[in-house]
Amino acid sequence: MSLDSPTLYFIATMIAALLGAMLLFFGKHEKSAALTWWGTAYLLGAVSVALWTLAGGALGEMLSLALNAVGLVACGMVWSAARVFHGRKPSIPGLSFGAVIWIAAVIALDPHAVAMRMTIGAAIVAIYAVLTAAELWAERRKTLKRRWPAIVVPVLHGFVLMLPILLGDVLRPANNEFASTWVTVFSIELVLYAVGTVFVIFMLVSERTVSAHKRAASIDPLTGIFNRRGFAEACARLIEREAAAGRPVTVLMFDIDHFKGINDRFGHPAGDEILKLFSAVVINNLRITDLSGRIGGEEFAALLPCSLEEGVMIAERVREVFANSGIAVEDGPVDTTVSVGVAGGPAGTELEVLLAAADTALYQAKRGGRNRIAAAEELPLSLEHARRRTAGLSAADRLRPAVAQGLVTSG
Ligand code: GH3
Ligand code: MG
Ligand code: MG
Repeated sequence: MSLDSPTLYFIATMIAALLGAMLLFFGKHEKSAALTWWGTAYLLGAVSVALWTLAGGALGEMLSLALNAVGLVACGMVWSAARVFHGRKPSIPGLSFGAVIWIAAVIALDPHAVAMRMTIGAAIVAIYAVLTAAELWAERRKTLKRRWPAIVVPVLHGFVLMLPILLGDVLRPANNEFASTWVTVFSIELVLYAVGTVFVIFMLVSERTVSAHKRAASIDPLTGIFNRRGFAEACARLIEREAAAGRPVTVLMFDIDHFKGINDRFGHPAGDEILKLFSAVVINNLRITDLSGRIGGEEFAALLPCSLEEGVMIAERVREVFANSGIAVEDGPVDTTVSVGVAGGPAGTELEVLLAAADTALYQAKRGGRNRIAAAEELPLSLEHARRRTAGLSAADRLRPAVAQGLVTSG
């Protein structure tokens, strides 16, 4: 198959321009500065290469030099786009150093040292490709599996660019056949690179959008802690990890006392403030390895990788700190307290089972007079058993002392 290299160059340029326009469009649409940088870089690169290729010898020496410099700035802009994508600032000296070195080299070099010029130009482009790869690589929050195209694509590009330089010494003197084959390979690679990088950036952007949506769906906007869904998901991971290590887990279920009364007396906004304060108390009194979430209106839960006894101690600390927090609103002090149900289980106990047992204990704490901790003495035999029991109990049943089954500590 013989491929005409000017045609290939033309196609590569057209594709780069098209991708640039597409990236600019999406950059505007998604309000993503990184995509705008990337799109501008492609358009600029495409225009400089197109003018340089089409006008060719007709351009003066200076203009041709300037076009090459613009092409190199475009490479620097791709690297800047990767920086901006990760919340860093574009480096203006960084994106112009290639052009500056290029111009300096051309001025300093003998005008006939074409091969040397090409080597320097290709090396600059390769350096930018490696910088782009390094920038994408530095995003350590992502798993390596999903990041590999972000590294492989620019590195491959740099490698193909440098190929004639790496092989140059072996193949010299003046192997014309190699030179034309390389131009063909390079043109094809250019197209693949342009498409490949766009694929990579879209993959990263969409991954980020998905994780932002996922985060929003699992966080309670009022308190900034997990909502029920986020809590359950995080708990599943923690329980699995603790189960593998054979360690017990304990659930704390908190319900603020007479919260309806607080809303009635001080207003809903004051109630909201108390919810925020309570979540801060919970977070401040748990360890970094513990999980907490707002699982209902004024109900919170925590999952601790510890024994029931330790869990009761921590619950007691939260209860005490909250009771003594001395909250006051304009209308005067708000005496708020919290009741806590605690349930612990051996390694691998399901969250639902622990929550059901903690819920039962919580109602014992309420029944016992509120502002106290109750610990479940036993777990429901199975989830099915817990469900049946919960379904069979009306709120009034739960308040009947006969259901008592836990140890109640007085606050
Ligand atoms: P108990 O001591 O038995 O728990 O009594 P309580 O009043 O706390 O319990 P109840 O379940 O009767 O009332 C809960 C109240 O919580 C009712 C609801 O208006 C209020 N609430 C739920 N979500 C929010 C919220 O986001 N903000 C505010 N301010 N109040 C809320
Ligand atoms: Mg409640
Ligand atoms: Mg309540």
